[in-house]
Amino acid sequence: MHTTWRSQIWEPMLNNRVVSKLSRLMPFAFQKASSKPSKSFRFPAGWQDKIIFFLSFDCDTEKDARVVPTLQNELHRHGLKACFAVPGMELEKHPEPYRALYNAGHEFLNHGYQSHCHLKEETNEYISSFFYNQLPLKTWQTDVVRGHENIVQIFGTAPRGYRTPHFGSFQSVLQLSSLYRLLSQYGYRYSTSTLPLKRFVYGQVYRPQPDLWEFPLSGMFDNPFAVFDSWSIRFDPDRRYSDPDYFRIFQQNLDFALHHARRPYILNYYVDPSQVFDFDGFYQSLEYLLQHRDALMNPTYSEFTEKVMPST
Ligand SMILES: [Zn+2]
Repeated sequence: MHTTWRSQIWEPMLNNRVVSKLSRLMPFAFQKASSKPSKSFRFPAGWQDKIIFFLSFDCDTEKDARVVPTLQNELHRHGLKACFAVPGMELEKHPEPYRALYNAGHEFLNHGYQSHCHLKEETNEYISSFFYNQLPLKTWQTDVVRGHENIVQIFGTAPRGYRTPHFGSFQSVLQLSSLYRLLSQYGYRYSTSTLPLKRFVYGQVYRPQPDLWEFPLSGMFDNPFAVFDSWSIRFDPDRRYSDPDYFRIFQQNLDFALHHARRPYILNYYVDPSQVFDFDGFYQSLEYLLQHRDALMNPTYSEFTEKVMPST
């Protein structure tokens, strides 16, 4: 990591139960702390006072492939651009819906090769497998490389970004630094594989390698260290949330960004297509977002890395 004191002192200090609890008791203070402007970047004209909204989809199951055309229409209707993380095996099985998205200008990330989640549709149970943190280094690194080759084969161009399968369980400094080294070797520009905690430690976007950017996912307003995703709200068997919480949190996060955050401020959200394509709370959230279109930028991750310049 580029900033050793942060990874050796600051990150372990924040990464504990007491601080996490504190963040839920005083969310505003924590959110404010994560909205410091990044000194290490120069934003182009027109971006300085904006909320930068990234939307990405993790497409791990067959149902995701079936429902992405619905989402493609909705994105088109709302004029939004998105990024898609699909394991290579799933891309091979269902290339058509993903090619249509690619041709419509959406971006694809390498999400490894092996399928890593199965959905039991009768019960809506998502069964996860193939966790990188449980695999030997060589096995997961081979999976990253195969995922890379697969995208080249399907779309004819190399992916510029990467997201770790089940990234929440792959967050240690050691794991991430070996990942980042590998990604740099393959010419990647970015990864978006870290939990909201990293926003507090390193910033809303940071460079773990000279040419590689990391975009941590956003948290929930009143639970700043917990990633805001469709699974935690709707499908996690141990969830503390229910459907109406999706729009409530979306609204709270955006209101904070609109009225209290220093800009440019990044909102980096991901959802799974099968978990939102028929979910009113998701569409209601997009409608709310677009009421504030003037305050927004909606780039893909690689557009961001092309337009925003490191200042060091
Ligand atoms: Zn996944």
